[in-house]
Amino acid sequence: MGPSVGRKSLEQLFDRFTEDLGSIRPEESGTVRCPLCLIQFDKSGLISGDLTEEHIIPGAVGGRKKTLSCKYCNNTHGSQMDSHLAQGMKALRAFEGFGSLDSFVEIAGHKVRADFAIRSGEKGDPLTIRIRGASPSAIEEIKSALSGNQVRGLKANMHLGYADGRFRLALIHAAYLTLFEVLGYRYVLSEGVRHFWTTLSPGSDDQYTTIKALTASISPLSPELPTPTCVFPITAKEFPSSPPLAYLVVLKLTTKPRYYGAILPSEHVAKDNIFEMLRVVSAELAAAPLHVAVRMPTGATSSPGLQTS
Ligand SMILES: [Zn+2]
Repeated sequence: MGPSVGRKSLEQLFDRFTEDLGSIRPEESGTVRCPLCLIQFDKSGLISGDLTEEHIIPGAVGGRKKTLSCKYCNNTHGSQMDSHLAQGMKALRAFEGFGSLDSFVEIAGHKVRADFAIRSGEKGDPLTIRIRGASPSAIEEIKSALSGNQVRGLKANMHLGYADGRFRLALIHAAYLTLFEVLGYRYVLSEGVRHFWTTLSPGSDDQYTTIKALTASISPLSPELPTPTCVFPITAKEFPSSPPLAYLVVLKLTTKPRYYGAILPSEHVAKDNIFEMLRVVSAELAAAPLHVAVRMPTGATSSPGLQTS
């Protein structure tokens, strides 16, 4: 019996990334580094299970493509960020009228757990609250209050189940893995990118303001992007032919697509003032109408160009 399908694709990832690492650090050939924590592994990491395949975009929000990471980072980020991404998408869908939200409702003096469903169609009630988990006496009181027209207002406490900072960090995480996939170790090993990632990664100080400035939802793109992840290099306006300062990574989440953008530094920038530079880039992108021209040369699988005007 040969290796399982999962093991085989993991081996292919190992071979591809060990070749890439060896090309820039010949003394490390035969090994790989986890793109997130940079811990080094040789091929025995495939057998021990220390090296894993990790979804670039979490599977729960429609991602299929995988890259290489270590078991520790894969498990940690899974619980710390990706669940927030999945839960956040669920909440956004519920507000659009699909599925329901777990919440607490205060009604007739009782605080009860309820499912909130919002419907925007013409038929049926626009808002349905299905109470669950209340005591029979509480339900009776609520019923009589509702039938007696005594309810003037409802106080609802939505339990969204995700934190915006973690949701956005998961976007940066997916964008970072996208750039690792496209550019390899020259991206994740560069000084500026390393500084960026270690400053923002989970467990570091609260960087919510920065994380918020570097991520945004993008209105539906037409035509749809050819791939679930797309990388747009951003160059300085005054020096259009110089290497990019940053990348705008556009991520397509779920099967009913919703697009997000994350701005990450390029591998060409030094770590000093990197966050100031990114804030300027993001402010410029947000202020000017952006014309994204998806130029896909035949045979290309990623990295379309970006034009601003
Ligand atoms: Zn790791």
